[in-house]
Amino acid sequence: MATQLERKEYDLTPLRESKLPIIWVLGGPGSGKGTQCDKIVAKYGFTHLSTGDLLRSEVQSGSGRGQKLNAIMEQGELVPLDAVLGLLAEAMLANVTSSKGFLIDGYPRELEQGLTFEKQISECTIILNFEVSPETMTKRLLHRAQTSGRVDDNEETIKKRLDTFSKHSKPVIEHFSNKCKTINAERDPTEIFKDIEACLDSLANINGF
Ligand code: ADP
Ligand code: MG
Repeated sequence: MATQLERKEYDLTPLRESKLPIIWVLGGPGSGKGTQCDKIVAKYGFTHLSTGDLLRSEVQSGSGRGQKLNAIMEQGELVPLDAVLGLLAEAMLANVTSSKGFLIDGYPRELEQGLTFEKQISECTIILNFEVSPETMTKRLLHRAQTSGRVDDNEETIKKRLDTFSKHSKPVIEHFSNKCKTINAERDPTEIFKDIEACLDSLANINGF
């Protein structure tokens, strides 16, 4: 889809120089990223940035950019890389002086997003990859739909989002396999978090956060 979105320029030097840990949280829609990120923030104090939330608040702002984004999200498709990376960079810069590290939830959605992030911003430290079956994701999303008010939590869009996810996510995991920790996220949230703690505690020993 040829969508024209305004571009802003940023000086990303403070982010590069901060050397803060950067954790990407990958997983399909409804895999439990938001749920686990809340737990990670509570224990480790990282700055949680969900690209979905950043995009939805841009839509809420009523900007022209937001209206174009909403139309794409309603279709269950990926928004253009520039738009999502710009929002992320802006949010990271706003927090860089006080942050202990960044938890980036829902990005990268495709390989190019990951490569461009590392080229323009900084290297990712570790990836938490949530593995869940499409059936479980659908079930959870339909349940979430009862309260979320999200334009994309409906049966038709969920199907498209799952297709978009399965098409684009594999190359990301394969390319970054050396720093990717795959987590069985079919289980109870408490059980899942134990595995995450094991990953992050060993990372803390190495990076000293
Ligand atoms: P994501 O951010 O990956 O889209 P959410 O964290 O918003 O996923 O979770 C989607 C829905 O599934 C929510 O209603 C949440 O309460 C529920 N959920 C999340 N993790 C689990 C889990 N491990 N087991 C059962 N339900 C879960
Ligand atoms: Mg989420």
